[in-house]
Amino acid sequence: MSHEVAWGDTKVYVAGHNGLVGSAIVRALEAAGAGEIIGWSSRELDLRDRSATFDAITEAKPDIIIDAAAKVGGIMANSTFPVEFLRDNSMIQTNVMDAAHSNDIDRLLFLGSSCIYPRHATQPIRESSLMTGPLEPTNQAYAMAKISGIYYIEAHREQYGRHWISAMPTNLYGPRDNFDLQSSHVLPAFIRRFHEAKVSGAPTVTVWGTGAPRREFLHVDDLANACLMLLSNYDSGQTINVGCGEDLPIKELAESVADVVGFTGTIEWDSSKPDGMPRKLLDTSRINALGWKPQISLRDGLTSTYAWYLENVA
Ligand code: GDP
Repeated sequence: MSHEVAWGDTKVYVAGHNGLVGSAIVRALEAAGAGEIIGWSSRELDLRDRSATFDAITEAKPDIIIDAAAKVGGIMANSTFPVEFLRDNSMIQTNVMDAAHSNDIDRLLFLGSSCIYPRHATQPIRESSLMTGPLEPTNQAYAMAKISGIYYIEAHREQYGRHWISAMPTNLYGPRDNFDLQSSHVLPAFIRRFHEAKVSGAPTVTVWGTGAPRREFLHVDDLANACLMLLSNYDSGQTINVGCGEDLPIKELAESVADVVGFTGTIEWDSSKPDGMPRKLLDTSRINALGWKPQISLRDGLTSTYAWYLENVA
């Protein structure tokens, strides 16, 4: 069953609208001519605060909620702060969904991440491999919260007939990413490390792990378009993967980023740092069957993200 959304008549609340994902969704909603787009910064509204979250959503009464609010981080942040990653994410998603239900908001999209799948899932990873094996320890806390969010979506569909859905994007990148070296993901970390080495004339850059793990990277604007498409064309309790269908070794990503940035020195690998999951490539047949595919190549995405970094961060 599909529910074609008439965006022009729709008031959408984007939770996490200042983040990497939320800001891309706002751009896509603006391009689609959404009637009204609302969002609160974390300073205006702390989504861990249940009564404040209820008050805000009750007053705003959106037609659709897109939940892109989460505490996110790369391999180091995730494995160093499991308490915050599990607690904050559980609180945020439960408060948003409970407030949505209590206001009878029938359309909600919850976003997770490909780290919900078992460490040794068959690659490319199908949606059906959820809960079939142990998780990757370096991001287990975040994954546990997201898995319970997916189940909470399903539970509301079953128990209350809500038309809520969830989608699981692969590793994302783009403008407004986090470029902090301790807490970022690999792609923005590479942009920053290589840029700073180029500027300072450093001959070598040291990065983490062995470079052997394989990852898939999707530009966040492609994800945002997928989210709008899913709200019109997907209505199932089973989560749906959003990826580009291709992965590459971290070593090759390092070479591509160095090339885009113009760093010509040596890249050294610190194998005392964790590699994380050996491979994380999503099977995207389900979303491809709905007619969606990504438009932005990794090379173009890297070039535009580096330009954004130069203008806004460097
Ligand atoms: P993951 O996909 O959850 O493992 O998250 P990340 O994006 O943080 O890491 C992906 C891979 O990149 C891991 O194998 C890391 O060890 C590797 N990596 C290499 N250098 C860096 C770095 O400077 N920062 C981060 N976050 N990861 C790095």
